[in-house]
Parts: sequence; C-alpha cells; structure tokens
Amino acid sequence: MKRIVVIFALLASFIFADGQKSDGKPEFVWPIQGLELSGLITSTFGESRKDHFHNGLDISSVLQPVRSMGDGFILYSRYAEDNPFEDERGSGNIVWVAHKNGYVSGYYHLGGTRNELVKNQTQVKAGDSLGISGNTGHSTGGHLHFVLGKDYGKTLLDPLSYLPPVEDTMPPQIANLFIHVGENYTNLNDGDNINVSKAFPLTVSIIDGGIKNSQRRGIRDVKYLFNGEVYKKANFESLQFDGSKWKTKDGLSFDDLFFKDRYLVGVLNLKAGENTIKVQTKDFFGHESERNFSINITRISGGN
Ligand SMILES: [Zn+2]
Repeated sequence: MKRIVVIFALLASFIFADGQKSDGKPEFVWPIQGLELSGLITSTFGESRKDHFHNGLDISSVLQPVRSMGDGFILYSRYAEDNPFEDERGSGNIVWVAHKNGYVSGYYHLGGTRNELVKNQTQVKAGDSLGISGNTGHSTGGHLHFVLGKDYGKTLLDPLSYLPPVEDTMPPQIANLFIHVGENYTNLNDGDNINVSKAFPLTVSIIDGGIKNSQRRGIRDVKYLFNGEVYKKANFESLQFDGSKWKTKDGLSFDDLFFKDRYLVGVLNLKAGENTIKVQTKDFFGHESERNFSINITRISGGN
C-alpha cells in the first residue's frame, strides 16, 4: 500500500513538473521563434471575420520553421500534394498535433511540402519543426494561423493565454459608436440628439494595440451597460462548439457579439430623452478602458 502511494506521489510530481504552471495551465512554446514577435501578431483570437469568429492567432511570417508548441504526437496533416486534382482548401496545408490532457494545436497555411518528421514520425517534442510558414489557402500575405484547442478540439482557446507573454502596454481603444439603419450607419458622438422610430442595432469599434497602435493583442472582456444596467457581457478567452454554433463561455454566438464587422452593443430600443451607453473592456493583459455615450432621443412615429 505504502509503495502504491509513493508511486502515485512520484507520478503526480512528474505530471506537475512536466510543463505545468502553478495555476494548472500547461506551458507551451511559441510556434515561431527567433523573430521579434511583438510586431508580428496581426490578428487575435475571437475577432470578427465578417460572419464567424477568428479562431486562432495570426503570426506574420514566411519561410520560417513552424514549431510544435509542446510535446505530443502528429494527429493529422494535409498537404495540397495529397490531392493534386482537388481545389485548395481555405486552411491551406495544415498539421495538427495532440498534446497531453486533451490539448491540440493546429498550424495553417504552411508552405512547401510535408517534412520528414511529419512524414516518418508520430512523436514530436516541444520546438520540433513541423513545416515552414507559407501563404497557402485563404491567406493574403505569408502568415501562420495558429489554433489551440482543448477537449480534442471541441473548445478553442486564446493562444495568448498559454504562450509565453508578449509585451502589451496599451489599453484597448474604444472608438466610435454607430447606429445602423438598414445598410446605412451613422457615427454617434457623446451628447448627440437623434430621432428614432424603433430599435436599431448599435455597434462600437474597439481595437487593442500592444506597445504600439499598429500591434494587435485583442480584447479579453467586454461589458455594455444600457441606462445604468448591464445589458450584455462577454469573455473572449475560449469558444465552445455546442453542436451548431461556436459560443463564448457566456453562451453568446458570433451574431450576438458582432454586426457588420463591429462589436454589437445590441439592438437597442432607445427611450425618449437621455439614454446612456457605457462600454467597458479589458485586454488580455488586464488593461481596462471605458467610454460613456449619452444620446438624446426624440421618438418619431412610423418607421422604415
Ligand atoms: Zn488566421
């Protein structure tokens, strides 16, 4: 009995020593290395891609070794050379790796052909080269689209929460508020007076920089308050597939959160008189921003 306990304790210490941070999250390595990463992240997890969430991290790079983020085994790979007569898929050439505890990682838009390691071996170590970054599939400009999943892919995670930290000193910037009427939209400024006949979608632009405006880190949380009450809040750290749609932990789908490529505050029925809309947001580093809009409404009858 004592022996079993000792073995169990050894096993437990082995599991925890093996790339686990103290908060239980595994520690992974960057799939692109040896470059100044800070300026190379061009798109982040959970952004709008017109009609769906962007489900990974884009790292601008071409002809660079793409490395396995952790130990594991090759789960799947597909290269254009496998089916020369088939149209190229949107994801281009891809490799998927399975890691411990149900984590999986995907590497998209790879260039060249399947490398020897992926061809001949099943086991990979953290940092092993899985291929080279490229521009295959739906990709404008060479980049790696990097996807991190859990539960064997039923949950997708923000890679920035699991990779070694990149610099981020800027809070998210909440720009304009817009009201959409059909295909048209108008910018709303704090203190504006407008006439409305019914509820219309209101959207807001939010951009999160890194250490410069041009860099991208992505927003982690957003909260909208309408006339003093929490109207909607979302956390963008993970997305779960519920059988038909990808949703945030809060149960919100893409269409609940985005409209016309901007963050959807809501389809708000603004009352006559003063209405307040407060937008609060946080980036992955915990920097917070808040912006208040006070809009004076005249209700008019009829509608379009
Ligand atoms: Zn991408």
